[in-house]
Amino acid sequence: MPDLSASSPAEAYAALLEGNARFVNGHRLHPNQDADRRSESAPRQHPFAVLFGCSDSRLAAEIIFDRGLGDLFVVRTAGHVAGAEVLGSVEYGVNVLGAPLVVVLGHDSCGAVTAASEAERGGVTPAGYIGDVVERVMPSVLSARAAGCTEVDQFVSVHIRRTVVGLVQRSALLANEIAAGRCAVVGLSYKLAEGTVSCVAVYGLAV
Ligand SMILES: [Zn+2]
Repeated sequence: MPDLSASSPAEAYAALLEGNARFVNGHRLHPNQDADRRSESAPRQHPFAVLFGCSDSRLAAEIIFDRGLGDLFVVRTAGHVAGAEVLGSVEYGVNVLGAPLVVVLGHDSCGAVTAASEAERGGVTPAGYIGDVVERVMPSVLSARAAGCTEVDQFVSVHIRRTVVGLVQRSALLANEIAAGRCAVVGLSYKLAEGTVSCVAVYGLAV
């Protein structure tokens, strides 16, 4: 398994896709999951990607990309909604730890997107802080509906794209890294049943 700590955005993206392919075809290598890696990575971390994804229990990052300790700097919230703490965490992964890639990971049948869609139709926002999550997804649902979308999985694609754009627009630190060619942001949509990912948005990388 190559050392990816100093890789380019393109190399990091290729490594993620290769790991996902291993997961999909049942040939996982379980890299960087042993005692040697634990010892080697304990003093410092050099993750090759920041993964910002939905909290859905079926989206376990190191499993679906067949990676291990020290590989991914993971930030996950329901519906990958991005408040200030998320932006700070992504910036930490990129600007402090030097990760050359940020992945926004959404998925089909997303509960948060479905809840936002139902709230938009019914006019009722869920109780508690769940309502905050739904409100943060709502602009994506409205945008998708305005574009003629009717299915949840279409809303999901729009929400992933808007999340990618939002990260780049809101984080000057991240935008600077992209402009300098040191980082890229990719939006991936994951299929729960198949385990595959497809690219729906990209900044700073030719794919
Ligand atoms: Zn979800």
